[in-house]
Amino acid sequence: MKPFSHLALSKEMITNLVALRYDVMTPIQEAAIPVILQGKDLLAQAKTGSGKTAAFGVGVLERLDPARLGTRCLVLCPVRELSEQVAGELRRIARFKDNVKVQCITGGVPVRRQERSLSHPPHIIVGTPGRILKLVGRGSLTVADLETVVIDEADRMLDMGFEEEMTAILDLLPVKRQTLCFSATFPEEIRNLGKRLLNAPREISAETFHDPGAIEQHFFEVIPKDKFKVLLGILAHHAPESAVVFCNTKDTCRQVSERLREQGLRSLALNGDLEQFERTETLIRFANGSCNILVATDVAARGLDIKSLDAVINYDIPFETETYVHRIGRTGRAGRKGLAFSLVRPREAFRLEAVNEFLKRDFVMEMPGPELDRDDADMDPQMATLSIGGGRKDKIGPGDLLGALTARGGLDGSEVGKIDRLEKITYCAVDRNALQRAVRVLSDSTIKGRRIKVRSHDD
Ligand code: ADP
Ligand code: MG
Repeated sequence: MKPFSHLALSKEMITNLVALRYDVMTPIQEAAIPVILQGKDLLAQAKTGSGKTAAFGVGVLERLDPARLGTRCLVLCPVRELSEQVAGELRRIARFKDNVKVQCITGGVPVRRQERSLSHPPHIIVGTPGRILKLVGRGSLTVADLETVVIDEADRMLDMGFEEEMTAILDLLPVKRQTLCFSATFPEEIRNLGKRLLNAPREISAETFHDPGAIEQHFFEVIPKDKFKVLLGILAHHAPESAVVFCNTKDTCRQVSERLREQGLRSLALNGDLEQFERTETLIRFANGSCNILVATDVAARGLDIKSLDAVINYDIPFETETYVHRIGRTGRAGRKGLAFSLVRPREAFRLEAVNEFLKRDFVMEMPGPELDRDDADMDPQMATLSIGGGRKDKIGPGDLLGALTARGGLDGSEVGKIDRLEKITYCAVDRNALQRAVRVLSDSTIKGRRIKVRSHDD
């Protein structure tokens, strides 16, 4: 851990950071600030609470000359509360410079009032995509002088369906600019977004190799015919909120998922046999909390990036130790404790030895205890998924859908979860208890003047 004075920052900046009791840099700050100071584009990932705001705040403010007028930095955030937090942190970091103006531009505030204050353009604007786009469209927010754009919480921006608005904003900005993208997780979609919107970005991740020390690992000796029973026991005893069960072959994968469903559990199989749309749908249903057990093969799980996975269960212990580490690294993220279980056949004991050697640990083989002798796993997911026949192509936005669902007292906003919009279909998670109500409300409404086709995936 190094102090900020380790970097080429002005004396005033350092003094202020010390006053803020920022004694040492967090890993993401140490890695990101030098890249930002060089003016390069950056795609950065670090878990929540790791100091990403100050990582871009210090970099951007160090380079900002308040004597030059015009808005020079734009920070995009997914929601109003976060925008306000970020603006507050930027103002604290900016204290050492005179007259740096940071302004929040988000929905929920009268447009006219925002327009009045924009007549003296702030140096930095922090805000949500919808309102920013609106003000740029009305000509009241000038973007010609922008030098740096930050996309904060990029993963949540995508979760909330802001991709198009973000792209539309970036299209309006000067081509010659610095673009920084920060995210708590690094799923495939973020990489793709980076490729599209950033210019030869440096990619940094503050947790390139996940520390498996935070994961509780168990190895159970099980003969093949008892494996399923032990799996049910683990699910019943530990009741994880979400789990991935890994199998070595797609046949096992399909069978295990089917048997779990026969037990009344809402599992889905993710294997190489799925059509692309089925794969997408499966990943969406798992990520939005309406399916909580995913049975997967390694190949099919590539790119699977789930924020909070309580448990990983190796129904089959993998052939390669690297695969083992990769599989279990999907649990125990973001400071949560993770659980990993492996079912090991007696003649596969040598695989445990290999794991121990690789991780420099001394796990021992356990026999499944009596606490696992049960098959009453009760883990209904909190959410359920609806799909709507219409998407990006039909210009149906997440806001339209949310509006239709909550209109006339249909659903409460808190009962609506993640909205995933594809080309011709939109998936929406709703609280399981509100599912029937949601279907009724939508069947009775119109979006953009058209009736909506709605289907529930409660199977
Ligand atoms: P993230 O955006 O990564 O979730 P934040 O930027 O919100 O994290 O930072 C989390 C907290 O850590 C904030 O309260 C912030 O003031 C504090 N913080 C950031 N950097 C440092 C540092 N170098 N030393 C001490 N506290 C810090
Ligand atoms: Mg943040």
